[in-house]
Amino acid sequence: MNLHEFARRIPKVELHVHLEGSIRPATLLQLAQRNSIGLPAQNVEGLRDFYRFRDFDHFIEVYSAITRCLRVPDDYRLIAYEFGADCARQNIRYAEVTFTIATNTKYTGLPWQAILEGLNEGRAQARAEFGVDWGWVFDISRNVPGTQGQVVEIALAARDESVVALGLGGPEADFPPELFERSFERARQAGLPSVPHAGEIAGPESVWAALRLLHADRLGHGVRSVEDGALVEYLRERQTPLEVCPTSNVRLGVYPDYAAHPLRRLWDAGLLVTINSDDPPMFNADLNHEYEALVDHFGFGADEMEQVSLNGLRASFLPPAEKARLEAEFRAEFAQLRENEQEQQFPLWVKSQVVAAISQSRRVLYAGRYTERKSNG
Ligand SMILES: [Zn+2]
Repeated sequence: MNLHEFARRIPKVELHVHLEGSIRPATLLQLAQRNSIGLPAQNVEGLRDFYRFRDFDHFIEVYSAITRCLRVPDDYRLIAYEFGADCARQNIRYAEVTFTIATNTKYTGLPWQAILEGLNEGRAQARAEFGVDWGWVFDISRNVPGTQGQVVEIALAARDESVVALGLGGPEADFPPELFERSFERARQAGLPSVPHAGEIAGPESVWAALRLLHADRLGHGVRSVEDGALVEYLRERQTPLEVCPTSNVRLGVYPDYAAHPLRRLWDAGLLVTINSDDPPMFNADLNHEYEALVDHFGFGADEMEQVSLNGLRASFLPPAEKARLEAEFRAEFAQLRENEQEQQFPLWVKSQVVAAISQSRRVLYAGRYTERKSNG
């Protein structure tokens, strides 16, 4: 098995992925048609062109057009179910999925409960069929700060329905964390974790503010922290997780290419790095692709990929018992994959030599114990 295959097959966790940005292109076209919404593309090829982003503002424009294609609760059930199927295909076993509830209530006129019911129906279907699960991160859109109070109240009210954190997305440069301090404080008082996007479009000052004012438990992206040595040290010491999305950063022009991306530097500095896909079909990628990119562009091997996967688990908001259970499963699967790899690499006669050596050493061991027991008794 080569490293690409290993990348695709290891069990994974994904912590930074937007549901609206994960809708399959074919499904989006079908929803647009069914709901009589005009899209500037008639087929999957056309959508690829539509997804060629000029800059972050253009990306927000496209994102908004996608969200407008959703109309009724069953649309939400469908996209959640297909998201689960896509997780299963990539061996993603658990995810924390961002969803912009206020934009969806605004565009559809539906109450948030009806939307969440649709989402959770699709999720339950996917869980039953594929054995994958996820929690929701409801995020505030920076460019509509007026909705932040509403989003916090919905997120808090929906905690029993698998909302696990409060997010903050949208244009980072023009809407700094200061504007959202009170809402995140309200969530924090109620025990809801904070996961703002920071250090993607704006620099280290945005990350500092997200940490100090929003008490970020994880950082969405956070990659531009690399520009400030003191910040890197702060993040290393506290092991604040970074939700790094390399392909998203390259496609949106945060970095011109993978070679310029600071992922390897952040990793080598000892930060808690997780790898994520952000908006997979919009970037013509998925989480498997990101793991393959680790191999192709950042020189990661099997050990490091396993660590990336375990970092995702560690940085998730799963209860400790659930984390421990999944970690045991993941480690068993890693071992199995490695064993398969060795089986493919070694000719049979080598294997038989190894087996003979092991059974010989066992015989010696048992003999030793036997003698020991005999002499004791
Ligand atoms: Zn994002």
